[in-house]
This record gives sequence, structure tokens and C-alpha cells, in this order.
Amino acid sequence: QIHSINDSQDSLDGDLMTCVSSVYRVAVLGSSGVGKSFLINQFTSSELLGTSQECSSDSDVDGVSITVVLDQQETVLQFMDKQEDVTAATDILPEAYMVVYSCTCRASFKAAVQICQHLKDNAQTDKSVILVANKVDLARRREVESDEGRKAAFGYECKYIETSAALGLNVDELLVGVLSQIKLNLNPEYL
Ligand code: GDP
Ligand code: MG
Repeated sequence: QIHSINDSQDSLDGDLMTCVSSVYRVAVLGSSGVGKSFLINQFTSSELLGTSQECSSDSDVDGVSITVVLDQQETVLQFMDKQEDVTAATDILPEAYMVVYSCTCRASFKAAVQICQHLKDNAQTDKSVILVANKVDLARRREVESDEGRKAAFGYECKYIETSAALGLNVDELLVGVLSQIKLNLNPEYL
């Protein structure tokens, strides 16, 4: 089943339809400097990418589209990295939210918690939300312990994962996690 994508991609629609089955949007939220762009950039070099990746790459889109192959099924995930303000009105709601903070910056953790709260308050909890603690490679600069992150995620009923975009640690796992959550949400019998 083909999901609609935004107007700016009109010229791409035809190509996309010939090579993929589904397009899901993932909003990537969090304070500036926590590693959102780095993580997304790391996704584009993942081993899980499908062969038809060139079908969906377009620098004009305000997001990065990548084709992921999971369980022999191709899916396009479109990562939207431009909505720094979670409250900003968007025409199309994403299927999932990646809320990123840096474990080296407590303020970014607080901001992430606020974003989770906002998503909950706006009844968007039926969407998949993944709380991402990035920069775990900077162990000596850590300001937010794993337990705190995990507890916050538990409180908001979202998934929790620790990553290092710099080391490529858990980056594939995050990509698979996002896709699995979306699939699980759309079809509770998945898995
Ligand atoms: P954004 O503002 O959230 O998009 O953050 P960026 O992706 O631009 O990253 C901000 C800075 O943090 C850059 O200098 C990155 O190189 C650095 N950075 C991002 N992720 C990591 C990480 O996992 N470990 C380390 N050590 N640095 C990181
Ligand atoms: Mg960025």
C-alpha cells in the first residue's frame, strides 16, 4: 500500500511507487547539538539499506528518505529533521517520533522529556515514540545516567535506546527499532 507523501515530491512519486511498498515519516526532535543530523547521516550508510535507495534520494525534500530492507520487505523511512519546535503545526503527522538528547547535556534531557510530555498531551501517543540517548561514547562527560533515561521512557511508554552516532553504536538497532515500532503500531500482530 502506497502512502501519500508531500507535494514537493510530486516528481518522485512515480519512481517511488515502482520500487517501494510503503513510505513512513519519522519526526526527529530534540535540542540543537544532540546529534540528530549525525544520526540520520549514519542511517544513510547502514547495511540495512535497500538497493533502490537512489529512487528516494532528493536534496529538495526537507528530510532524508532512506529505503530499509527488513524481513525481505522494502520500506522508505523519511526522516524529518527540520521541526526543532515540536509544537509547530504540520500538515501531515508522522508515523513515529525520534526524541533525541545527549547524555552529556542535562538541559537536552529536560527538553526531550518536555517533548515526550507534549506528544502525550496531544494524544499522539498512539504513534511510536523512541527516546534516544546519544553520545554515549563521551562517558566521562555524561550528565544523564542510563537509569534516568530508561525511567523517563518507561513513564511515557516509549522505547529507549542509547546510541553513539560517532562510533556507529546502536545506530542500526535504532533504525530497526523505529521501523519495528511503526509496523507494530499499524499491525499489532507484527512480530
Ligand atoms: P543536531 O543539531 O542535533 O543535528 O546535532 P549534530 O548532528 O549537528 O551534532 C552536533 C555535534 O555533536 C557535532 O559536532 C557532532 O559531530 C557531535 N556529535 C553528534 N553525535 C555524536 C556522538 O554520538 N558522539 C560524539 N562524540 N559527538 C557527536
Ligand atoms: Mg542538525
